[in-house]
Amino acid sequence: MPTPAAAHVNTLLASYPDFPKPGILFRDLNPVFADAAAFRSLIDELAGRFAGKFDAVAGIEARGFLLAAAVGYAADVAVLAVRKGGKLPGAVLSEEYDLEYGSACLELEIGQLAPGSRVLVLDDVLATGGTIAATSRLIGRAGYALAGVGVVLELTDLDGRSRLGDAAVHTIVAL
Ligand code: AMP
Repeated sequence: MPTPAAAHVNTLLASYPDFPKPGILFRDLNPVFADAAAFRSLIDELAGRFAGKFDAVAGIEARGFLLAAAVGYAADVAVLAVRKGGKLPGAVLSEEYDLEYGSACLELEIGQLAPGSRVLVLDDVLATGGTIAATSRLIGRAGYALAGVGVVLELTDLDGRSRLGDAAVHTIVAL
């Protein structure tokens, strides 16, 4: 029996072959975010799954920001923005990671939370796991504890979960 959020995702998810490159089947969650009841169900499931277990939520640029802002508000906790390289001022931590072609960099400003704060990491899609693994390293290097990982969609054939160690990973829909 799918959860209410999973039922919404299954109904509204759009898939685009060969976007943004040949060979990629792009999963577009914007139609889910654009449906108020569906979006609320995502936030309720992610916030509920980790209720009482996190002091802050970190969203990964860009679609993770939408989830993190709403879960942070719902749970009344701090919100952190994990941004692509070169966009944050001041003292930042950086993590490079491999993409299918080339590499990318994610950054986090230091000193935003008390040491040991439990941070829930949110993003839209777990594919190869490189993005969330790099974010987990940033959380650890900043002196925080990884409370868990929440994603709307997990692409299981890419086995991204295996790159996340023993993190508690919650997926609304696995394809
Ligand atoms: P990865 O680091 O491979 O787990 O990729 C995760 C990031 O890339 C997420 O931030 C997603 O937004 C995006 N992404 C990767 N693959 C897809 C896909 N097939 N459809 C939509 N977004 C994707």
